[in-house]
Amino acid sequence: MNLAEWLVRTAKREADRPALLSGETVVASYREFADHAARIGAVLRARHKVEPGDRVAIFMKNSPSYLELLYGIWFCGAVAVPINAKLHAREAAFILADSQSRVVFVAGEGELSPLLPPGCALHDLDRQPAFEPGGETLAAPVARRGDDLAWLFYTSGTTGKPKGVMLSNANLHAMTYAYFVDVDDVLEEDAAVYAAPLSHGAGLYNFMHVLRGARHVVPASGGFDAAELCALAPRLGNVTMFAAPTMIHRLLATARQTGYAGEGLRTIVYGGGPMYLADIEAATEQFGARFVQIYGQGESPMTLTALPRGDIVDRTHPRWRERLASVGRAQSCVSIRVVGPDGADRPAGEIGEIIAAGSPVMQGYWNNSDATAQTLRDGWLWTGDMGSLDEDGYLTLRDRSKDVIISGGTNIYPREVEEALLTHPGVAEVSVIGRPSAEWGEEVVAVVVPAGPQAPTEAELDAHCRSQIAGFKRPKAYVFEAELPKNNYGKVLKTELRARFAAP
Ligand code: AMP
Repeated sequence: MNLAEWLVRTAKREADRPALLSGETVVASYREFADHAARIGAVLRARHKVEPGDRVAIFMKNSPSYLELLYGIWFCGAVAVPINAKLHAREAAFILADSQSRVVFVAGEGELSPLLPPGCALHDLDRQPAFEPGGETLAAPVARRGDDLAWLFYTSGTTGKPKGVMLSNANLHAMTYAYFVDVDDVLEEDAAVYAAPLSHGAGLYNFMHVLRGARHVVPASGGFDAAELCALAPRLGNVTMFAAPTMIHRLLATARQTGYAGEGLRTIVYGGGPMYLADIEAATEQFGARFVQIYGQGESPMTLTALPRGDIVDRTHPRWRERLASVGRAQSCVSIRVVGPDGADRPAGEIGEIIAAGSPVMQGYWNNSDATAQTLRDGWLWTGDMGSLDEDGYLTLRDRSKDVIISGGTNIYPREVEEALLTHPGVAEVSVIGRPSAEWGEEVVAVVVPAGPQAPTEAELDAHCRSQIAGFKRPKAYVFEAELPKNNYGKVLKTELRARFAAP
């Protein structure tokens, strides 16, 4: 079933309810939201010759029209390719070429137009509206099957090249139903506030709010601003949102200064990176029973485990602390196991790789059968995360088998940063690691072996990174060393470097 049918049904039932808001200002009712999506679908088909199954990308910051574009893409049966707006134009161009997108929606051309791959049209909303009010429209969403693709979710690979996670309509249906069962109910009075990027987890959480006819709100700042949110939530009421742990950390700091105690906030779902125990304890003291944790990854979107509201505020269970430090139990539509490299289950309490199977698990990686075969084995998704299950089924994440750095809820792949730095003539060797940061969860540190007696300056290396990769991936600190610690095979011992920089 086409996801756009959910919007059409809600628009019939709740035509005049407010659907899309910019801050407190309503910009579209459900009737208008569905009408605009149908017209965008018609433009894609008539002007851009988009056929069902073709890919259409969005490379834009959060805005209310982002959701109209997503549903417009689905209306005409195409596959959405939301691209993180913080990526460098070169990185976005790679994704457009890899996904063979027919069209990319942008708001302002930026540096992308000279880099566009052949066959990909640029639709700049600053110059050309997404649709003409009197123009053509589509009568109904194009029929789609459960296993047809709906969303190509680009995640960076450890090789440094992003991989397109293929999510079908049925994957996203399963994720949505599991939310109602395992995470939270959604009420029609709710306001889903998109403070995190719509291209990722926050955007995936739009479906449940469309089904219930709730409000979708993009804050006026377009992103996360703790002071803005504290002021907006009481005025909107019934706010629900997805937040990276970093955002909760900042919200807490602001709330403590102003005395804000969560008025107007109904639910904050957090996940996407590690939450420190001290932070969630302090956050529940300040805001009360307003939190639910999820653990997921693009490959099983938002849907591996959940730690419900009750577990987060419980201080009576003998092991409440361990539970609070865990990521909860398997969501209802997935099986979770912790296994050794041979695939045999590890006993309770022992660490192994987390594997998962179930209806939200991806169809594979787009055009990348090697990576698919490595990650999906006998119907099980190998997550690359290490963890342990307790007797009651609570999963605790221990470490990542890959060396991904999660800074502010966003994954940064060290190899990509290393490759960028290694193109600087003053750098002989480099190893990039994450070190704990109270604000970001982790922050990027580059350990550099200079090529000559005169080491390049930090400013030079920073400028070099700026020309190569997205700003948020740039190291926050550089350390210059005469050599890197290595094992007998010459492989850099990142664990040793991490331990050295983790020490206060
Ligand atoms: P992504 O595919 O970009 O969503 O990143 C997924 C990765 O983020 C997972 O494989 C985990 O390593 C990490 N992650 C997701 N949720 C949590 C969580 N609740 N706690 C700790 N790490 C998490």
